[in-house]
Amino acid sequence: LAAFGLAAGLAACAPAGTTGDGEGDSNAVECNVGISMPTRSLERWINDGEGLKEKLEAQDCTVDLQYADDKTDQQISQIQNQVAGGAKILVVAAIDGETLGPVLEDAKSQDVTVIAYDRLINGTDAVDYYATFDNYQVGQLQGEFIEEQLDLANAEGPFNLEPFAGSPDDNNAAFFFAGAWDVLLPYVESGKLVVPSGKSPASNADWTSIGILGWGSADAQAEMDNRLQSFYTGGDKVDVVLSPNDSLALGIEQSLSSAGYAPGTDWPLITGQDGDVANIKAILADQQSMTVWKDTRELGSQVDKMIQQIVAGEEVDVNDTESYDNKVKVVPTYILEPQVVVKDQVEPVLVESGFVEASDIGL
Ligand code: BGC
Repeated sequence: LAAFGLAAGLAACAPAGTTGDGEGDSNAVECNVGISMPTRSLERWINDGEGLKEKLEAQDCTVDLQYADDKTDQQISQIQNQVAGGAKILVVAAIDGETLGPVLEDAKSQDVTVIAYDRLINGTDAVDYYATFDNYQVGQLQGEFIEEQLDLANAEGPFNLEPFAGSPDDNNAAFFFAGAWDVLLPYVESGKLVVPSGKSPASNADWTSIGILGWGSADAQAEMDNRLQSFYTGGDKVDVVLSPNDSLALGIEQSLSSAGYAPGTDWPLITGQDGDVANIKAILADQQSMTVWKDTRELGSQVDKMIQQIVAGEEVDVNDTESYDNKVKVVPTYILEPQVVVKDQVEPVLVESGFVEASDIGL
């Protein structure tokens, strides 16, 4: 591994195509990387960006890391600047999966290799690789958790469910919802799960109307306030909330708390995703039932490996060439597996692995 790192470092020093006799080296790529992350407002993206930057710099790569404040225009101009500044490889977690085609096609015309990070970029052939956790499985784990906890196969019910979905411009949100709804919709159709707000998509593809644009906690809180005030006036209680991720779960939990729900008595089952510190604390305080944990360090290592392979002109390791069709091409992908974490796994899984410090979550 050390030798491999050294070789990659040497390749990084050599301007592409200018060493040796000028013929044998055509695959060498300078390790000059632009990382474009969506926002600093979510903990995970800070960890993702900084973790990957550190790994790459340890291998003598030049790295420019930018955050786009969840604004597509800003992300486009940051990518343009990275390419103008000499980036040969781009790692992009797109804010809007549909709008980066032109800027990436421009990059590709300058021989830049593009890796879609966590979120697929659609409608362009300028995406070379994709690295992600299995997004459908994230939703499926949430749906199956609800199914098991409420024992939906045997219990009579009915249980009051409030489903939420992610940002409609985020390509992942559709996968999260489909994974969960494929498990839950049959129970909605049979009447075991009831959705008092009526915000119950008729199919797994029909979710954008309940999506929270931008994934903001405050917007999720406002939406939950609204549902509680409008549809739970006669003493009805929410039994379960499908929340696609931790940022939405946090807002929903604040809303429930303000409405007088209390852990240990009438607090509903709530799902999440990411393992953000605030949500791990909520899990420990019985205010969130689970999170689907995606170890961002693992994703970073996989992307680092892809980059070193690109730099060395080697074949890039992928494990899926079927699942992620971006409407122009099926993007070669490395898929990682997410994992459910509940209260008694916080310590052995999240703390032991070094993902969080015990002191940060009050342990
Ligand atoms: C990511 C999630 C994240 C969400 C909001 C999704 O694309 O996969 O991990 O919670 O965006 O940033």
